[in-house]
Amino acid sequence: MRVEIDRSSGFCWGVVRTVEIAERELAAGRKLYSLGDIIHNPMEIARLREQGLETITHADLDRLTGATVLVRAHGEPPETFRKARERGITIVDATCPVVTKVQERIRKFYLDGFQVVIFGKKDHAEVVGLVGQTNGEAIVLKSVAEIDAVTLDRKTVLFSQTTMDKPTFHAIRDALATRVKELVVATMEDEAVEFHAKDTICGQVSGRDKKIREFARAHDVVLFVAGKHSSNGKVLYEIVRSENPRTHFVEDLPEVDWNWFEGACSVGITGATSTPQWLMETIQNAILQQSSNNTIHSH
Ligand code: SF4
Repeated sequence: MRVEIDRSSGFCWGVVRTVEIAERELAAGRKLYSLGDIIHNPMEIARLREQGLETITHADLDRLTGATVLVRAHGEPPETFRKARERGITIVDATCPVVTKVQERIRKFYLDGFQVVIFGKKDHAEVVGLVGQTNGEAIVLKSVAEIDAVTLDRKTVLFSQTTMDKPTFHAIRDALATRVKELVVATMEDEAVEFHAKDTICGQVSGRDKKIREFARAHDVVLFVAGKHSSNGKVLYEIVRSENPRTHFVEDLPEVDWNWFEGACSVGITGATSTPQWLMETIQNAILQQSSNNTIHSH
C-alpha cells in the first residue's frame, strides 16, 4: 500500500519560522511565554510545552514583570508592545514578516488620512493587530453584505487579513469601487473619492484548496490531520471530504481506525496549515507498519 503525505500541506513558512524562534529561545534555557497559543494544534502545543513554552493571555502580562514573551506569527497591536515595555517584559517578536509588512502598509495609509477597511474576521488575532495600526479606527468586514458600514465620503483603502479567500476579497473590492463611481455621478462632484484595494492575502494559503482537491482525488482513502478547533482545518476538511468521501478527520494517531484502509491501494495524509509535519510522518509510519504486519487488508 502507498501512503503519501501531501507536500503542500503543513506549516506555512511564517509558522515554521515562529516555531524555530521559540525553540531557539527555549534551547538557550530561557523561560518563554507565548501570548496566545503559538499554533492551533494541541499536539504541537504539547510538544513545545515539554520544552518549557507556556501559553498566557493578555491579562497575564500584568503579573509577568521582567519575563520574556513571544509574539506569535499573527502579530500584535502597538498597545501590546507598549504594555510590555511598561512592565519591563522582553518581547521576542516572531510576527510573520508578511504580516509585519501588511501592518506597516496599513499604518502608512492611516497616517496619510485614509479610511482603512479590512476584509477579515473581527476577533482574529491578526486582525486585532492590524486594526491596532489605525488607533482602533479601521472598519472590519467579512462579506459584501456588510459594506454599508463604509461611508465613502473620504479617501479609502481596502486591505485583507492574510488568510481570507480571494473571490470574496474581489467581490468586496468591486462593490466598493462601484459605490465610489455611483457617488461621484450622483453628486456630480468634480473630484472622485480616492479608493485603493490592496490584495494582502498570503500566497502560502491562497490556491491551497485547488491543490488539496487534486490530492484528495488521487487517493483511495484520505486522512485529514488537524486540531479539532482549527478553523482552517474545518474548512479544508470539508473540501477534502467533498472530493473524496473516504476522508477521515483525526487529531492524533490513536484515533486512526485500521478498518478505514480495507481494500485501499493508496492513502493520502494531509492537514491544515497548523498541522505539524512530524505528526503526519508519525501517522504515515504507523500505517506502513500495520500494512507490512498484514493488519490491514489492502490491495
Ligand atoms: S499564512 Fe502567510 S502570512 Fe500567515 S503566517 Fe503563514 S506565511 Fe505568514
